[in-house]
Amino acid sequence: MLDFDTAQDRLIQAAVRPTRSERIPLKAALGRVLANTVQATIDIPPADNSAMDGYAIRFSDYQPNQGLAIQQRCYAGDIPQALQPGQAIRLFTGSLMPAGADTVVMQEHCSEENNVVVIEKAPKKGANVRYRGEDMSQDKTIILKGKTINSGHIAILASQGITDIDVYPIPKIGILTTGDELTEPGQPLKEGQIYNSNAPMLAALVQQLNAEVHLSLHAKDSLEDIQTALTTLSQECDLVLTVGGVSVGDKDLVKPAIEKLGGEVNLWKVRMKPGKPVTLANLGSTPIVGLPGNPVSSFAVFVLMVSPMIRVLQGRRHATPRVLYGKLDSNTVFSGSREEFLRVQARPDLDGFLYLTPHPQQGSAIINSLAWCTGLARIPADQPVGLGATVAYYDLKHWAH
Ligand code: AMP
Ligand code: MG
Repeated sequence: MLDFDTAQDRLIQAAVRPTRSERIPLKAALGRVLANTVQATIDIPPADNSAMDGYAIRFSDYQPNQGLAIQQRCYAGDIPQALQPGQAIRLFTGSLMPAGADTVVMQEHCSEENNVVVIEKAPKKGANVRYRGEDMSQDKTIILKGKTINSGHIAILASQGITDIDVYPIPKIGILTTGDELTEPGQPLKEGQIYNSNAPMLAALVQQLNAEVHLSLHAKDSLEDIQTALTTLSQECDLVLTVGGVSVGDKDLVKPAIEKLGGEVNLWKVRMKPGKPVTLANLGSTPIVGLPGNPVSSFAVFVLMVSPMIRVLQGRRHATPRVLYGKLDSNTVFSGSREEFLRVQARPDLDGFLYLTPHPQQGSAIINSLAWCTGLARIPADQPVGLGATVAYYDLKHWAH
């Protein structure tokens, strides 16, 4: 048996970072992974400017209750004159700072009459000025390669006048579900059958990670069917996920199928619940991960062990997202010889702790627990834990995105 962390690490090692990149318009960049570190080519802001609607003055000209003649009104986009001694220039947010001015007094602290401004509250020297380059300065790194582009990055890139960026290609994921008992939603459900829910669930998880399901196939429990599907999938995809058929039953044909095709298969009993059997294989250079068929196991193994592989394939900086901590909020004492990942709902409370409530049904076939949970709580092996115990918490907002 392998422990969870070792199994996770081995899967991560089996994924290869991208070497190619492609140029795309900034408009299409949300969720993509930056392939080249970006430096600022211009200072942002490009010039000192006002952070407020108000009046630009020389701080040394300020005297309580003494009026300053207004030399000019300068709107954002205008070029100001140099400030004359003893005068003020009316400014607005984003107006350029006039040469000679060092302070902006906000208009709420002033009164204006007959083109003269009286400052009613003592200003602070240098107040309300946004300085050239204080946000981004020319030639400095502004975004590291490997970052997943969010709306903030889009703003940074646009502020630099950038229209196109280099990103890594989107990895192509292949899915192969197996099982004679499975039928597709939309078909009538015959006796003994269940609908294939794992294929759409995994496709949704892949989509959430900003990867792409290139092809999703279903094979009957037959060696030929599975071999044919695997051949196509491994040729066309960067990573293939198989579902079911990897245990020790008579109809568990995924391992023999890969071996017949010349692939090497590692079948691991991972000391975790749900999801004990996990396989890692390859056909050619394509890694294949065998997920358990039970929906909860499939979900958990994908979130905990496959999502890190996909992040590597995407070129993202961190394969494993942050693990949080929370306190168990349940009167049940959990204990077992395998580590257990419970489906829990996390609730932040006023005391600053996250409270984790386990779903009442923790069976590996309980599909309704998947929609309900916000993440997975990690229960240690051979160490009973109960109410109030602090445990690691894998939040889906991090681990499934
Ligand atoms: P297996 O590993 O093939 O023995 O499957 C374990 C359990 O998961 C069985 O109850 C299967 O019916 C179920 N199962 C396997 N694949 C799927 C799937 N794609 N969708 C829903 N349930 C599945
Ligand atoms: Mg099966």
